[in-house]
Amino acid sequence: MNVFSHPEFDNHEQVCFFTDPRTGLKAIVAVHNSSRGPALGGCRMFPYASDEEVLRDVLRLSKGMTYKSALANLDLGGGKSVIIGDPRQHKTEELMEAMGRCLEQLGGRYIAAEDSGTSVADLKVMGRCTTQVAGVSAHIGFDGKPSDGDPSPATAYGTFVGLKAAVEHKLGRSDLTGLKVAVQGIGNVGYRLARHLHEAGAQLWVYDIHQDQMDRAVKEFGATPVSADEILRLPVDVVAPCALGAVLNDASIPQLQAKVVAGAANNQLERPDHDALLMQHGILYAPDFVINAGGIIDVFHGRTGYEPDKVRAHVETIGDTLNEIFSRSDRDGRPTGIIANALAEERFDHIPTPGEANLAKAG
Ligand code: NAD
Repeated sequence: MNVFSHPEFDNHEQVCFFTDPRTGLKAIVAVHNSSRGPALGGCRMFPYASDEEVLRDVLRLSKGMTYKSALANLDLGGGKSVIIGDPRQHKTEELMEAMGRCLEQLGGRYIAAEDSGTSVADLKVMGRCTTQVAGVSAHIGFDGKPSDGDPSPATAYGTFVGLKAAVEHKLGRSDLTGLKVAVQGIGNVGYRLARHLHEAGAQLWVYDIHQDQMDRAVKEFGATPVSADEILRLPVDVVAPCALGAVLNDASIPQLQAKVVAGAANNQLERPDHDALLMQHGILYAPDFVINAGGIIDVFHGRTGYEPDKVRAHVETIGDTLNEIFSRSDRDGRPTGIIANALAEERFDHIPTPGEANLAKAG
């Protein structure tokens, strides 16, 4: 397995492989860039089919965190960790403690948060063996409600703020009364986003693979339930993907009728250049890693001293960052995803990959 020549390798500062035969732990931690501060990122547990797949995920996701934190104005670098295994079968307290000991060896260069396959409870178990875990302490949240560390409310609020900024930019309206929004995925974030939108007077259409999630939105927000095929093609103002990645692709983009895409799901673009296709179709895309940063902002403040008003104000800066991205995109005629990446790179020490260096020479 190649590391330095791996297609996803982007001058990562550190990639550590950990094993603990006693508990069966196999894990990789990647620190992409720490020029802004310690690398914070989720600890994912997944039954990867191959070592190659694990490495790809950890390299790609850790890099994404560098960009996300820089754009969220956080003094953090980007990192990610992955534990190889099925969380339903292989997760034990001993395994989580072993992971905690591994993190401790990194001396604070990487801080783990919950991610798919891990929970706040798992992070607390890791925390028996390390101080390098985040999002594990109960506090009063940014919204004045008790929080157990779950970042979803802050993610949903940040997405709502970002959606409003996108609507104002594209549709020239700040009042959401009667705004038509299709929400795909009514889980932790999608449900809360739908509530913000409903409270602001928007009309909602929803789809979730779980009928009970949809029923709740119909009952509480008067939302209209639609099918999987319909949700992205409705004649609405905004589509908010809040479930899966890769939903914006060659097939779906030409069918979108909405003029704005603004949702919390990670990796919405199937390929990076799909932001250009959205632009060609006259659709304003709020880059996912900018609009869904409320959670990491919340987790960061949980480690540094949580002041609810300060956190709320910080989450609201997502709107300002998106406004800057949208304005630059209009000015330069370039897609919002590219602009967001360039803005992030202005904020951390970026060492060009050989490919970028060649492009720069050619240009
Ligand atoms: P979740 O698991 O609570 O909710 C996802 C919802 O999507 C579930 O209700 C699920 O039934 C539904 N779903 C799954 N497949 C679907 C499909 N094909 N079509 C429609 N619905 C489908 O997860 P979440 O925490 O709400 O996160 C939602 C998205 O936002 C994910 O992509 C996640 O990576 C991203 N995100 C979440 C946070 C956070 O703080 N939770 C932060 C940043 C990004």
